[in-house]
Amino acid sequence: MDVVKPVKRNVLLNPGPATTSDAVKYAQVVPDICPREQEFVEIMTGVRKDLVKVVHGDAEKYAAVIFTGSGTIIQDVLVNSLVPEGKKICVVNNGAYSARMVEIAEYYHIPCVNLKFPSTELPDLAVVKKTLEKDKDIAVVATVHHETGTGVLNPIKEIGQMAHDNGAIFVVDTISTYGLLPIDIAEQNIDFLMSSAQKGLAGMTGASWTVGKIDEIKKTKDYPPRSYYCNLFMQFDFFDRVGEMHFTPPVQTMYALRQAIKEYFEEGEQARWKRLTKCWEAIHKGLSEMGLGTVIDKEIQGHLVVTVRAPEDEKFDFFKLHDYCFERGFTIYPGKMFGLKTFRLCNLGLITEQDIRDFFVVAKEAFTQMGYSLPIETLA
Ligand SMILES: *Cc1c(COP(=O)(O)O)cnc(C)c1O
Repeated sequence: MDVVKPVKRNVLLNPGPATTSDAVKYAQVVPDICPREQEFVEIMTGVRKDLVKVVHGDAEKYAAVIFTGSGTIIQDVLVNSLVPEGKKICVVNNGAYSARMVEIAEYYHIPCVNLKFPSTELPDLAVVKKTLEKDKDIAVVATVHHETGTGVLNPIKEIGQMAHDNGAIFVVDTISTYGLLPIDIAEQNIDFLMSSAQKGLAGMTGASWTVGKIDEIKKTKDYPPRSYYCNLFMQFDFFDRVGEMHFTPPVQTMYALRQAIKEYFEEGEQARWKRLTKCWEAIHKGLSEMGLGTVIDKEIQGHLVVTVRAPEDEKFDFFKLHDYCFERGFTIYPGKMFGLKTFRLCNLGLITEQDIRDFFVVAKEAFTQMGYSLPIETLA
C-alpha cells in the first residue's frame, strides 16, 4: 500500500475507533468504483472469507454478514433477527453494552429476560443456569465478551455451553475482542459473534459484521421480519446469491478493512495479543507509579481496558487532564461507572508499550499541573 505522506499519528486510548496504520488510511484512496462491479464483489468476497478465518471458523459452517454502520448496528441486527415468534431472548447483562442489547429488544417489543449483574463483577453462572433450565421459551442467549465500559472479560465458553444444554443459540458481542484476543468460534461455543471495522482490526468506521452459523441464519427466514434495513436473512441471502450487500456498501471502508486484515495476518494472532498485553501491563505499571488505583479486579480484566479510579478531591479535573494529553497526541476517555470518579485507558489499536510509556510522561506532567505531587496519596 502506498503511503504518500505520513499522517500525524495520534495514540488513541479511547474504546474505539482505534489508532490505525497509514497504509490503512491510504487504502481508502482508490479510483471511484461502482460497488456492483465484479472487481468490488471480489474484494467483498475475499474480506468475508477472511473475517471467518480470523476466528478460525469452518467456512462450510460459518459465514460473515456485513452491514454498513457502527458496531451497534450488528447488535441491532442479531437481536431483532434471531428470536422466533413467541420466544424470548435472555441477556446476561453486567455492563453498558449488554444493557444496550436489552434496550434494542425492548425497542422491537421482543420478550427479554434481563439477567442483571453488578458491572464490576462476573455474572453469577448458577443464576444463568437456573434461569435457562426454568424458562424453556428462551431461544437466544446473548452477552458481551469484553465489557468495554469497565474492562471485565466474561466467561463466554461456559455461558455458551449452558445455552446449548438448554436448546438455545448463543450470541456474543465480541466487538472489543475480535482481532485482539484470540478467539476460536466453535471452541468457545459461539453461534453468532459481532465485530466492527474500527475496533480490533484497526480499520475505518462504517462496516460491522457477524460471523454466524449458516444453518441458524437459514432458519431465520421464517422468523418475524422486524426490521427492513437491519435484516440478517435478507443480507445473508443477497451475499449468497449475488456476492454483494443488499444496499450500498461503505466502499472506501472496505478497502481499508482489506488492508487492516492483511496487517492482522502479517502481525499474527499471538504476536498481536502479546503486544497488547504488554501495553496493558505498562498501563498498570504507570498507574501504580503515579499512585492511582483501578476499579476492576485484575484477575477478571480482559487486558484491553483499564478503569482508573480518579482522585476524589477537587484538584482533579478530567477535562484538564484530557486536554493536556490530547494536545500532545494522546486521547483518553471518561469512565462509564455510576457514582464513581473514573476514567478509562484502552489499548485496542496499533499502539506499543513505548506509546504507553510516552503517555505516562505526559500524564504525570498533567497531574503535576493540576497541583498534585507524585505519587498521589492513595485513596483508602
Ligand atoms: C464499541 C462497542 C460497540 C459498538 O459501539 P458503536 O459506538 O456503535 O461502534 C458495541 N459493543 C462493544 C462491546 C463495544 O466495545
